[in-house]
Amino acid sequence: MPLCPMRQIVDEARAAGYGVGAYNVNNMEQIQAIMQAARETASPLIIQASRGALQYTNFTYLKHLMMAAVEDNPGLPIALHLDHGPNLDLCKKAIELGFTSVMIDGSIDYDETTESGKHPARSFEDNIRVTKEVVDYAHERGVSVEGELGTLGGIEEDTATDKVLLTDPDEVEAFCQKTGVDALALAIGTSHGAYKFKTKPVLALDLISECRQRVPEVALVMHGSSSVPKDLVDEVNKYGGRMPGAMGVPIASIQEAITRGIQKINVDTDGRLVVTGAVRKVFAEKPEVFDPRKYLGPAREALATLIASKMKDFGTAGHAGDYEPKSLEEMKDFYAAPPA
Ligand SMILES: [Zn+2]
Repeated sequence: MPLCPMRQIVDEARAAGYGVGAYNVNNMEQIQAIMQAARETASPLIIQASRGALQYTNFTYLKHLMMAAVEDNPGLPIALHLDHGPNLDLCKKAIELGFTSVMIDGSIDYDETTESGKHPARSFEDNIRVTKEVVDYAHERGVSVEGELGTLGGIEEDTATDKVLLTDPDEVEAFCQKTGVDALALAIGTSHGAYKFKTKPVLALDLISECRQRVPEVALVMHGSSSVPKDLVDEVNKYGGRMPGAMGVPIASIQEAITRGIQKINVDTDGRLVVTGAVRKVFAEKPEVFDPRKYLGPAREALATLIASKMKDFGTAGHAGDYEPKSLEEMKDFYAAPPA
């Protein structure tokens, strides 16, 4: 089975009313764990790589790891997605590597840095301009595009910005119309990283319903959606870690967000936590171990279990066989003449 366009995966999810996780990858064990979970639960999935992941793996290694995942798993609809593309250049590079989807994050200007070392937010008009450029380039090649409106808080690699702005529903329709994005990341109060909230999670869930009404055809995306479960944080801390006060989005809130119209849910932090906890456990309990397979192996197992539970919680499980992936050629025709 060839790679699947992200657009098709989220369209199917929207029609059937479930969510699809987009899981960040940086190395072989992560990719294998995610694929194992998808196989065991028969789930369609989005594998995503950030700019940091591409740099870390020198592009080519990650590309071939992702391709290996596809080759090893015929029968699963898999989209390869660039997470937080900072500009057209990197989106082009990802498309060259064979990604079927890119995010252009036009909400902040990655080329500029403020005094605080963060990136300034872009104006609405600038965001439209930057995003439209990528949509034109990608759609000509059948590749899906995710944009972002509003800015997310927290720190995930290089995405920090000074201003946290919730998505303004009044801008959503114009943004989607003018850019033609397939998917839109909303800022609804979630943030990147393991420290999303100080006391308790506060999410603007009504915003999702509002946006779903305004742009019924566009997939809606939640970033910063790791749950940061207490048992995972406790595991890290128990074996010598130091993550006081880490807090994420409860799974019930994500399920409600899906009911209200979210299709794509980005998950990165929870995977980092479970891998760290598993590695720390081996180091603490078996200090004699020095074969990386002896600690990366258990970490891979723990990650597969975590991702499988997300696939069930998001409602993705069991949907892998619902459809045949479309080719990028078919998507080109689709974009050239969108059905009325
Ligand atoms: Zn993000």
